[in-house]
Amino acid sequence: MNETYDAIVIGAGVMGASITYNLSQRGLKVLILERQSIAVGATGQSSGLVRMHYDIEVDSALAWQSFHFFKNWRERIGGECGFKRTGFLQIVPPDKNDQLRGNVEMQKRIGILTEVVTTAEVKKIAPMFKTDDFELAAYEPESGYADPTLTTNSFITNAKACGSVLMQDCELTGIRVSGGKVVGVESSRGSFDAPIIVNCAGTFADRIGKMVDVEIPLTTWSHDVAFVRRPTKVGMHPTCIDDALSMYFRPEGELTLIGLEDYNRMGEAPESDLGRVDPEFVMRAIDRICERVDGMRNGF
Ligand SMILES: Cc1cc2nc3c(=O)[nH]c(=O)nc-3n(C[C@H](O)[C@H](O)[C@H](O)COP(=O)(O)OP(=O)(O)OC[C@H]3O[C@@H](n4cnc5c(N)ncnc54)[C@H](O)[C@@H]3O)c2cc1C
Repeated sequence: MNETYDAIVIGAGVMGASITYNLSQRGLKVLILERQSIAVGATGQSSGLVRMHYDIEVDSALAWQSFHFFKNWRERIGGECGFKRTGFLQIVPPDKNDQLRGNVEMQKRIGILTEVVTTAEVKKIAPMFKTDDFELAAYEPESGYADPTLTTNSFITNAKACGSVLMQDCELTGIRVSGGKVVGVESSRGSFDAPIIVNCAGTFADRIGKMVDVEIPLTTWSHDVAFVRRPTKVGMHPTCIDDALSMYFRPEGELTLIGLEDYNRMGEAPESDLGRVDPEFVMRAIDRICERVDGMRNGF
């Protein structure tokens, strides 16, 4: 007879881990299946920004709810998520000033700690930032970044403590259906039964959907990121999404992590090598960060 669970979650990225944790907290015994290892997919490659500045209200509201967890992780979840408060700046080109003001108004209505700031104020927050190509930014003093792998591990550790089970190196290969309802799964490590199956397979989610004739329109958008050394003289800068230069960056100790929003690869198969970086990317990233942050050139 197959082992039976209350629910089976497919994929141990941050989504699968969070859902497993939350179901476990509600008394369900969950099996979480992962084809490789925890956070091996987009989660482990994520830059981990923890900020509330989004264009869409529901995104900001969700991020605001999550923020309180990141800030008080040990008390609310247990373990570590690696949250670092750095402050967060959202820079926009001048033709987006009205949109920025509207976003900040919407976010303040939700209760988010955010302000529209002028370039003079940006200079006080981040003296190393060059400010001649934009007029306004949004500033969230409490925001920063977290460690996505730690976050995911912490959810799973706490779910296991409630009786849930993690199976790594375990690829889902099929879903069994009876009378129009899911009843279990087939995997590279055997068959398991459950009346609830949650698809958290990230960029593979469409393939899981196909197993039960559900079409999920999904494509991939790969972002390269690079770490560069930050000269000591530059000092610690805030986390920043810089729409004026199509870039995001954040500190990581003495390094700065840079991601670019342009020239990204679209539509690659999800099993492509996530560690591969386009050769010109690093030079473009260096040029871009030097355009924004004074003194960075001395780091190369
Ligand atoms: C702290 C933090 C901050 C973030 N900030 C931002 C942000 O500012 N902006 C933003 O856009 N995003 C942000 N993200 C989100 C991030 O970029 C990713 O989108 C997210 O982590 C994806 O999680 P996932 O669980 O959906 O997918 P994945 O991490 O890809 O996990 C899916 C898992 O499913 C497994 N899987 C696939 N097929 C199978 C199968 N057949 N059988 C078993 N397992 C399978 C894969 O191996 C993989 O591990 C943040 C994430 C974190 C944790």
